[in-house]
Amino acid sequence: MTLLIKNGTIVTVSESFQADIAVKDGVISAIGQNLDIKADKVVDASGKLVLPGAIDAHTHLAMPFGGTQSADGYLAGTRAAACGGVTTVFDYPMQRKGKGILETIRERKAMCDPEACVDYAFHCIITDLNDNTILDEFQAAVDEGITSFKCFLVYKKEGMMVDDGTLVKILLKAKEVGALTNIHAENPDLIDMNIEKFLKEGKTSAWYHYLSRPEFVEAEADKRAVHWAKSVDAPLYIVHMADKEGLEAAAEAKRQGHKIFIETCPQYLEFTSDVYKREDGRNFVCSPPMKGEESKEALWKAIQNGDIDTVATDHCPFQSYEKDWGKDDFTKIPNGCAGVENLYPYMLSAANEGKISFNRAVELCAANPAKIFGCESKGSLAVGKDGDIVIYDPDLDFTITTEAMHSDYDHTIWEGITVHGYPVQTFVRGRLVYDQGEFVGEPGYGNFIKRIPNQV
Ligand SMILES: [Zn+2]
Repeated sequence: MTLLIKNGTIVTVSESFQADIAVKDGVISAIGQNLDIKADKVVDASGKLVLPGAIDAHTHLAMPFGGTQSADGYLAGTRAAACGGVTTVFDYPMQRKGKGILETIRERKAMCDPEACVDYAFHCIITDLNDNTILDEFQAAVDEGITSFKCFLVYKKEGMMVDDGTLVKILLKAKEVGALTNIHAENPDLIDMNIEKFLKEGKTSAWYHYLSRPEFVEAEADKRAVHWAKSVDAPLYIVHMADKEGLEAAAEAKRQGHKIFIETCPQYLEFTSDVYKREDGRNFVCSPPMKGEESKEALWKAIQNGDIDTVATDHCPFQSYEKDWGKDDFTKIPNGCAGVENLYPYMLSAANEGKISFNRAVELCAANPAKIFGCESKGSLAVGKDGDIVIYDPDLDFTITTEAMHSDYDHTIWEGITVHGYPVQTFVRGRLVYDQGEFVGEPGYGNFIKRIPNQV
């Protein structure tokens, strides 16, 4: 099967140029002017941009949380991904006490494989070392293509936190096997202290979710994680960076030559903590919470100057009735928001508006996550790479509504926001999965991406 996309403007990290692109048996086989190739399917992309499919390096599909699970399972989440130009999603299976890494991964793979509409990969969250036996499994996990592990510095009461000693053990072991350690950085003791105080005072609205974990609560943990990574000379990837002070500390370490990578999410670029004052503030509850204007501006600056490496979503939506559990107590609100279908359109819209270049949007959403996480065949348009391609109409404005999305959730924080420019077609390994507003893919088509170690 050969696909030929003609007359579009191809965008890579370093350049944009008009050319045709051919995909044969799922792999990009040629890029050039006026390609004379016999194809089964020809697409005219005149006036359109031809982009690598995005990689959302941070999603939580079918994730158990607070007595329920996230509203998008593997089918809905990857269907929505396809419709937003995301051709690979990373999910976060969670290892729990008494369980092994491979056992955890295989369970999730069995769930995901028949449902995945786009390609997928796993990071594994480590919550307990099982008397250090988990460390002995790191190599086997890497051999199975799991080359990144995540630790929570938070969720202490929930039994998911790792202490500093455990974090350092994980940093060192990950480094030894060529893997990368991802960190969710917030300080649990400060959060728990604040929560106790606010609940006692009857301060229970969503605004107190933010006030219980404000800027300095995240910054402390960002800095601590950076400190340990620097001290033991191990690579570190900080997920969903949302505060200025932590960002600056991480960026400073990066400039000193340490292997520190920084991810942020569209919600931290679009919203501020003011959303928690809204009547529907609980719908915006995620951790870390959105911060003040100063942090938002610092994040944009880091998007522009290269300090931030990736933008991913932390996609973890819940239904309205579940968010409502916390109407009178912010601690009962399931944490998480939607985003997988909005990531690429949002960042490309920023490019369309001149905030960043299209090349930079491609770097943040496709090339960098592929490089950092060892997805050899993904992330850029070049001969030999997978035919993961998005055709993007820069003139098509689109207003986001829950109705127009392709998830299973019943509300979105992105409701009513207009993006300038929108994907019109998405191909995964040369197969059309999204076509002008419609999902046309197939559950089970998505492949597990076995990643290669030692990439950073
Ligand atoms: Zn997350």
